[in-house]
Amino acid sequence: MAEDYSDFISEFIKEDLASGRYSSVLTRFPPEPNGWLHVGHCKACYVDFSMAEKFGGKCNLRFDDTNPEKEDISYVEAIKRDLKWLGYDWEEREYYASDYYEYLYELAVKIIKKGHAYIDDLSDEEIREYRGTAVADKNNITDTPPGRNSPYRERSIEENLELFGRMRAGAFADGAKTLRAKIDMAHPNLLMRDPVMYRIRRDYHYRTQNAWCIYPMYDFAHPLSDAKEGISHSLCSLEYEIHRPLYDWFIREAEVFPSRQIEFARLNLTHTVLSKRYLLKLVQEKYVSGWDDPRMPTIAGLRRRGYTATALRTFVDKIGIAKTDSTVDIAFLEYCLRQDLNKTSPRVMTVLNPLKLIIENWEAGKVEELEAINNPEDERAGTRTVVFSRELWIEQDDFAVAPPPKYFRLFPGNSVRLRYGYIVTCTGFDTDPQTKAVTAVRCTYDPATRGGNAPDNRIVKSTIHWLSAAHAIHIEVRHYDYLFKADKPMETAPGATFLDNLNPHSLELIPDAYAEPCLAKAVSGDRYQFERLGYFVRDLDCGVDGRPVFNKTLGLRDTWAKEQKKAGV
Ligand code: ATP
Ligand code: MG
Repeated sequence: MAEDYSDFISEFIKEDLASGRYSSVLTRFPPEPNGWLHVGHCKACYVDFSMAEKFGGKCNLRFDDTNPEKEDISYVEAIKRDLKWLGYDWEEREYYASDYYEYLYELAVKIIKKGHAYIDDLSDEEIREYRGTAVADKNNITDTPPGRNSPYRERSIEENLELFGRMRAGAFADGAKTLRAKIDMAHPNLLMRDPVMYRIRRDYHYRTQNAWCIYPMYDFAHPLSDAKEGISHSLCSLEYEIHRPLYDWFIREAEVFPSRQIEFARLNLTHTVLSKRYLLKLVQEKYVSGWDDPRMPTIAGLRRRGYTATALRTFVDKIGIAKTDSTVDIAFLEYCLRQDLNKTSPRVMTVLNPLKLIIENWEAGKVEELEAINNPEDERAGTRTVVFSRELWIEQDDFAVAPPPKYFRLFPGNSVRLRYGYIVTCTGFDTDPQTKAVTAVRCTYDPATRGGNAPDNRIVKSTIHWLSAAHAIHIEVRHYDYLFKADKPMETAPGATFLDNLNPHSLELIPDAYAEPCLAKAVSGDRYQFERLGYFVRDLDCGVDGRPVFNKTLGLRDTWAKEQKKAGV
């Protein structure tokens, strides 16, 4: 397949290779191990890995772990597992910013020695106040008056070196001092107003443990970690654009490999929150069962929901790489998944809301095996047998005592085909004497119509699914709806939070559904199309009496394709 170089990142890389700025391409995917990967990261790693691959380069996996209070080894493990599942291979190139602490410290010393960094005694709050506040426009460029220099800004290089050494040695309390870059307190970009490079924090780090009590800030650590690895193109999401002058400043001051930062648009999805901070809140406050709850936009949640790695990669490929942020309709993600599932999922029959169907002219105790097609989209999937008998389960809504207009399923006097079986004609129904609810539907079958061999005069308008009551197994089904009702859950009314947008009906349990016996063998992660109902996946949980649990992945109806058609696309 011819490579497409039309996106702007490829353009930059091509220029950089042509000009000799870099001789080869090395990118990195830099997750912070403070949460599980979500579908936004899926886009980021796609961009990082695919750009490297396109230019014959490599992509490093680097854990950006400079924030001890929020990071954990369990997140590292979850991130690696999800990346592998997505199909990314970083080979042996697995790095940790925390392994660079000594190197980063040395570079900080180098910058102090140049007179371009100083130890400040101002508190966080004072630093903020001296920096000045701004009514920022979208580029964070302001016309606010310049900030004020810290009274400690003119400390001598010797004093700064000595104090920095003592900071590292633990001579000062947390927050008592910081190391700041000496740039420009009048800079129009607030981030350039003497940003903090190191802070004192006595926190246990999951890798360096208690070896350090000072930790580098992201804006200092990230460019220099890129440089340490010889990253040519440091691809990141758009919110880092205003950090780029600082990225370049640290590279220049530290005199290290000149990595280049290029930003691309973040992925936003309707009905979804894509920020680890908020996802963590949902987990911690138990709005969901965990990071892998099937309603979560995490890779693990989507996997448990029944998403395939192919669908996720196709999705991020199709939405492309843009320079401005936008929100993608979640129906498009579902469309990509449906395309894949339609090709790959075996079909089975299940009944979620059972109603008994009694075939009056079928001998009690007689069973017959019918042939069912496993996947009409894939001949190699073959066929299986389904057992037909006198008493069947059908869906409650496939029968109506008094049919509404255009209702072609079962009602007294009407005929339907039972999928893979016979045409049956409804002869009546039984009711509970007290509640008057329908307890069973009665019908007769036509032996000449077996497996689709209907004589011409027996064409019926509807085919319904069914199960032999004596052979069906019990399953539990979990139906999911969007976790957030609102299109854009982060847009809230004054005084409200994103939690107010949670959908109270995002999970519906169906503990007593029925399925073909073959589903007893399904293992966690096996995906199926339940005929006429949608796509489902075997969950890792078991329900009452050990019955297998199936999560609804999504319905059969394709709202995306329909809307595209309506719009004439
Ligand atoms: P979050 O806001 O979810 O905490 P983050 O940027 O802090 O995201 P990191 O672990 O630092 O999370 O992200 C690793 C990489 O993934 C970064 O390069 C970041 O730019 C990118 N990334 C994160 N979220 C998205 C998104 N929604 N779309 C595209 N890229 C993203
Ligand atoms: Mg981040």
